[in-house]
Amino acid sequence: GQGTNLQDAEWIEWIYQHLDPSNMSNLQREKEATHTAITALYADINPIWLEAAWSMETRKQEEDRQQHEQRVHPLPDRKTVMAMIIRRLGWRLPGSSSTVPIYGLTVRQATQLQDGPALEQRQQLMAAFVQEARGVVGATAHIDPENEVNRFHKTLARLWSDVRWENKNKETLWRLAVDGVPLPGNTHLSRMPPQPCGCGTFGGPNSPPSSPRLHHFWECPIAQAVRDQIDRHLPSSATTEGGMGRHHLWLIQAPPGCDQAPWDVIAMAALSSMEHGRHCLRAAIRGQRQMETMDPRQPPPSPQPQTRVEQGPRQRV
Ligand SMILES: [Zn+2]
Repeated sequence: GQGTNLQDAEWIEWIYQHLDPSNMSNLQREKEATHTAITALYADINPIWLEAAWSMETRKQEEDRQQHEQRVHPLPDRKTVMAMIIRRLGWRLPGSSSTVPIYGLTVRQATQLQDGPALEQRQQLMAAFVQEARGVVGATAHIDPENEVNRFHKTLARLWSDVRWENKNKETLWRLAVDGVPLPGNTHLSRMPPQPCGCGTFGGPNSPPSSPRLHHFWECPIAQAVRDQIDRHLPSSATTEGGMGRHHLWLIQAPPGCDQAPWDVIAMAALSSMEHGRHCLRAAIRGQRQMETMDPRQPPPSPQPQTRVEQGPRQRV
């Protein structure tokens, strides 16, 4: 060893002399020498072995403690634990402070839980739509917004069930009412900046602030062209009000002197046309850009895109 310089045989002899219990009678322990020897012996042990021995000892102590603990406070069985957990599980219904426990939930409540947030969001989006539809029309004082939203809900229910028409003709209105037409900058794509419209009057630095929906389904020259067509055929009783109002179109409310049944179809068709026109314009602009990048010798684009664009849909409608 390091501290003692004893050889193996001498160690055995030393142990025999100092520590062997059978040798107690002729014990010749010298306290100091024994202590030094044992300390040296200890120092000779590989520290990794020591570490392992200590951790083993600690673990054993911990196990003993746990066993003792379990004898004093035995763990509940699986069934009891499950019952304890389940009793604490439940849901908080929207608009209610009390919770419904898992075993007391009815199908109706579950449906309410699933649809609740979506229904609420839809309600808010519809209210915003009705408000935007009413935005420009001057005389709004007599309009009760809540009534108006309810009325619009009823209109939609009627359109979806009573108007026998392919769904694709209803889709634009269906999307528009919840701001769901994929227009960058709208409620659903609020993180994206509004995309400049090909007509040149929307999305630029100097363009007036308006929602993408308001532009594409009312203000854009394409939408204007569709509106002009309808205005041209409205009875004189309707045109005294200055043509079709946005609420007539967006909320599918027949203008004075028009029957509601044909108006259902006219208004939905008009909205679909505006959406179709938007797609066509976008495709045309894209095609033009591709041509420009493909062939640099191509002459620069016409400096008056607005008039060009405006003429296209007007002629087509
Ligand atoms: Zn536009």
